[in-house]
Amino acid sequence: MNIIVQKYGGTSVANLEKIRTAAVRIKESLKEGCVAVVLSAMAGDTDGLLKLASEITRTPDPRDLDLLLATGEQISVAMMSMTLKEMGIACETFLGFQAGVMTDENHGRAKIKRLDEKKVRAALEKGCVAVVAGFQGTTESGEITTIGRGGSDTTAVALAAALSAKRCEIYTDVEGIFTADPAICKNARLLEKISYEEMSELADAGAKVLHDRSVEIAAKNGVLLAVKPAHSQGIGTLVVPEKDAVMMEGSFVSGLTCNTGEARICIRKVPDKVGVTAKIFAPIARAGIDVDLIIQNVSEDGFVELAFTVPKEDLRKALALTEAAAREVNAGKVRAEGDIAKISVVGLGMRSHAGIAHRMFAALAREDISIQMIGTSEIKVSIVIEERRAVDAIKILHDEFSLA
Ligand code: ADP
Ligand code: ASP
Ligand code: MG
Repeated sequence: MNIIVQKYGGTSVANLEKIRTAAVRIKESLKEGCVAVVLSAMAGDTDGLLKLASEITRTPDPRDLDLLLATGEQISVAMMSMTLKEMGIACETFLGFQAGVMTDENHGRAKIKRLDEKKVRAALEKGCVAVVAGFQGTTESGEITTIGRGGSDTTAVALAAALSAKRCEIYTDVEGIFTADPAICKNARLLEKISYEEMSELADAGAKVLHDRSVEIAAKNGVLLAVKPAHSQGIGTLVVPEKDAVMMEGSFVSGLTCNTGEARICIRKVPDKVGVTAKIFAPIARAGIDVDLIIQNVSEDGFVELAFTVPKEDLRKALALTEAAAREVNAGKVRAEGDIAKISVVGLGMRSHAGIAHRMFAALAREDISIQMIGTSEIKVSIVIEERRAVDAIKILHDEFSLA
């Protein structure tokens, strides 16, 4: 069976007209094979539900919150089903649990453990379009979970992997994957292809266009992934294995991202003794909070200063845990800062070419942008700067690495 999985993001199902546009594309794709469709909630719905919850409590039970958030995708699935049927196209609908999306119990950011695709496959075999709710799943004990903001991409790729689909198409509100967020960088260039490795780093560093887990799952299972515009016939961008990604002569950097979703926690006067750093990070790790960049300065008079970043949504919890840990190890004041931006530069060419980090620092220094934290991986350099200089920094680095 020739199977295509298509995912339509929030803006691509934002109103009845857009749902109809998507339905027309689905109808067209049926000429090529069977189509399974994964949908996000209509644009703004998930945010609206979060706001409603926040009017009741700042600390909702994560189970209740997942129950609420999962309703967003239920609405778009129902509307798409009605639209397809009006057009004479047979379809079957699936919420996460009905589609066999099995997750762990980490409410709010659950991981898909496996996808039991039998029911979806049966619908396709009957000649129906399968319309599946993205972003949600179920635990072994039957609780409804959600898999993290932007997670419908991951549902789509996991479904494509389970169905051994010919390809997975992600339809969104831009022409494809660009060298930088086109909403920030007006001369960003559309990429024809990008490797799984680079896209994974970009997504991890905050490029919203694909959910980070979706790229990981695609790479692991060899899912052919395409990001395309929902509003035009543009060909979009293919995410491919490294050997198939073309590297342009002389371009060591493929893209850059800006992430303003993290906050920094600083601890002053941390006693410079073996085991203290471990004691500070232990409770944060136990709470499942992702720590990203960490810096510790050179010891002075037996004390160091420690700083690290966490997702803004976890800041309150991380701050409380850090304050308790700091008291326990007799450290000084704990301070939180939310007005930071993390800029990351990504490219396979960094493996073979030293000096990318230096060029990045020098370009920012010329424009008087001060660097507060630095982190590197094999194909990525990330820096933290003041949030108010983020847009400037993106433009400067985009020019420095000739990405336009
Ligand atoms: P959807 O609702 O379709 O899932 P998202 O808002 O999650 O769409 O992702 C698409 C958005 O990602 C674009 O509107 C764009 O502003 C942003 N984006 C960030 N970085 C990039 C990039 N490198 N290429 C394309 N889009 C990007
Ligand atoms: N509706 C969810 C969100 O807004 C999931 C998604 O759109 O992928 O994050
Ligand atoms: Mg998205």
